[in-house]
Amino acid sequence: MHKVYNLNKIFLNGEFVESKSGKSLDVTSPIDLEILGQVPASNKEDVDLAVEYADKAALDWKNTSYEERKQYVNKFLDYLDRYKEEITDTVTKELGAPISKSMSTHVSGNINEMRSLVEIADKFEFIDHREGYDLVKEPVGIVACVTPWNYPLGQITKKVVPALLTGNTVILKPSSQTPFTGIWVAKAIEASGLPKGVFALITGKGSDLGDILAEHPHINMVTFTGSTKVGKELGSKAVSNMKRITLELGGKSPAVVLEGADLDLALDKVLGILTSNAGQTCSALTRLLIPESMKEEIEEKLVEKVKEYKVGNPYENVDMGPTQSKNQFEKISKYVKAGLDEGATMLYGKEPTDMYIEPVIFTDVKNDMKIATDEIFGPVLSVITYRDVEEAIQISNDTKYGLSGAVFGPEDQAYKVAQRIKSGNVTVNAKEAVNNIPFGGYKYSGIGRENGLSGLEEFIELKSIILPVEKEA
Ligand code: NAP
Repeated sequence: MHKVYNLNKIFLNGEFVESKSGKSLDVTSPIDLEILGQVPASNKEDVDLAVEYADKAALDWKNTSYEERKQYVNKFLDYLDRYKEEITDTVTKELGAPISKSMSTHVSGNINEMRSLVEIADKFEFIDHREGYDLVKEPVGIVACVTPWNYPLGQITKKVVPALLTGNTVILKPSSQTPFTGIWVAKAIEASGLPKGVFALITGKGSDLGDILAEHPHINMVTFTGSTKVGKELGSKAVSNMKRITLELGGKSPAVVLEGADLDLALDKVLGILTSNAGQTCSALTRLLIPESMKEEIEEKLVEKVKEYKVGNPYENVDMGPTQSKNQFEKISKYVKAGLDEGATMLYGKEPTDMYIEPVIFTDVKNDMKIATDEIFGPVLSVITYRDVEEAIQISNDTKYGLSGAVFGPEDQAYKVAQRIKSGNVTVNAKEAVNNIPFGGYKYSGIGRENGLSGLEEFIELKSIILPVEKEA
């Protein structure tokens, strides 16, 4: 069995070094609650050093050609590819995801997505010659990346890769719950030979490091993925210090089933994403909106299908492993109880008793119940009925979030419904999505986009260089 990188070091100025704090944090595996190892609990001195090195490296890095930067990024991705089995194992150990999903979704899928992002960046116009001026796309500068635990590799690379391709220097602060995947990222950076100082890895508690990053006078941008609560606080501090921000936050996304929909497609998609990361996916379709007239038929099919999903040891042939932490377990349990207290009917499942939580399906849910308004971040589905399509749209949009959504039904009608859902992406009868679709939220689901061209543009400052023009007399 592979071991995680238990170095207890951060990555500064091109090498792994000890933190100035002299303190460390334990990292626990959700599989058996054993301690996997330690990472440094970095402090302000470490951040100051990371910024000092980034400052020194910034000008030369900004002046490298795109082709040169791309070569470093390709070497970085080659390293991840070479060690994909080991990284997969780290993801399973610290996140608890089934080993096959860690490989397909978390590691290989992500490397492929980053390779296709490089192809998009190949066509990026860093200077756009316009009439009377050049629009120059410059790097924002020093970018602090703060990432969550639920997709420990993907959420990091979606920030680090576009930031580097566009010439920024990067300080990464991964989740303290899944930091060992971040160590792999630093290992891959080291192997790529990236110039010293261009990338730093700082580990530690977000609650200790957030203010330091958001208030540091030399950091130019904070890109954050995580909860709406923390994103609001961190984003406000960063903006009040005049930093650029990107916030990728929570969701409570609707799946609307219209009359005439392919029910197998719809329910497989909803249950697939509900269970795919033990319910810990920001874009999970956790509110299933169905026509009142089809309630019985859909509920019966749902129960039949959900029984097929197996929960258990992630090294075995299962669909779901444990939830990531005891906190998550307690939060999910609290919501399941709230659902029962508020009068929803438990169509399938039971109150959680341990971290290996089986899917729970509530029906007779009203859209103002806690299980329908709050992001639970566990495998809990709320089934809500609607009388007509107008009501389905109204219920879909009656949420503070706006991250994702799905519509299933006759294509023309489904497309029209999708147009009226207020969220950053909506699928129409879609089973799989292609790579690099811009992703991000309306409302409390965030500010800005990741992936694709839009994801690259987040890391760009626009400068207009105005040229002399002959004015007509
Ligand atoms: P979180 O608690 O908000 O933490 C996210 C990151 O912020 C972690 O690195 C965390 O560090 C750090 N952090 C915590 N408190 C902080 C503070 N006061 N100041 C600055 N940073 C702080 O979120 P999470 O539980 O890791 O992730 C789950 C959430 O992420 C869900 O809401 C999910 O919807 C959202 N998410 C959104 C997207 C998207 O693209 N929209 C994608 C994935 C996940 P520590 O780990 O050290 O606490």
